[in-house]
Amino acid sequence: MVQVVDSLFSLYQELDQEIAQFKAHSGLNCRESCGLCCLRPSEEILCTLLELIPVARDLFQEGLASLVWEQAQKAGGESRCVFYEPQPESPFAGRCGRYTVRPLLCRLFGFSGFRDKRSRVLLTASRVMKEDFPEVVKKAQESMDEGLAIPLSSDWATRLAGIDPSLTQERMPLNVALMRAIEWVALRWGRDDDTPPNGPPRVPPQAA
Ligand code: SF4
Repeated sequence: MVQVVDSLFSLYQELDQEIAQFKAHSGLNCRESCGLCCLRPSEEILCTLLELIPVARDLFQEGLASLVWEQAQKAGGESRCVFYEPQPESPFAGRCGRYTVRPLLCRLFGFSGFRDKRSRVLLTASRVMKEDFPEVVKKAQESMDEGLAIPLSSDWATRLAGIDPSLTQERMPLNVALMRAIEWVALRWGRDDDTPPNGPPRVPPQAA
């Protein structure tokens, strides 16, 4: 478990640097406190088991694994991610409760590109970005056409699969992937050399 988590964090570190460079050069950013991307049903945020292992491990260390497994089961793919924390004054404003260990797609959205049929790299700006900062979005695309580097989502998905093909072969709604990751960690807890010092996990949840 330690090895795959370390490899994943190294990947995220590299990706975050690339995104930071793209943001700095393009001037593109999210609307402050915007949570609209996280309000989508979790079945629109597809993740692999591997991406949810770090947060599952944290949940066991915090004694919250069973509770969050039940929340994720109740929410399912139709509801939003269980980690989204809306602000009381507006459900459209909020924050990620697990920002540092959020999955790949949550990092890429709005700050990544894909190749069209002619191999032109297109920006995946969010609807909010296009509405709030149309000129910045336009200029970012122009800069990309002139060579500004942007993370390509397909490249990062390939690199993710390279960490462990067996843990990345299936993409699932975020809440479902979270349940599977909690079950995966529960089965392996104590077998590796990374059992945390604060004792064993609570009784592992049962698969649905
Ligand atoms: S993990 Fe965080 S960033 Fe991703 S959908 Fe959930 S709340 Fe949003």
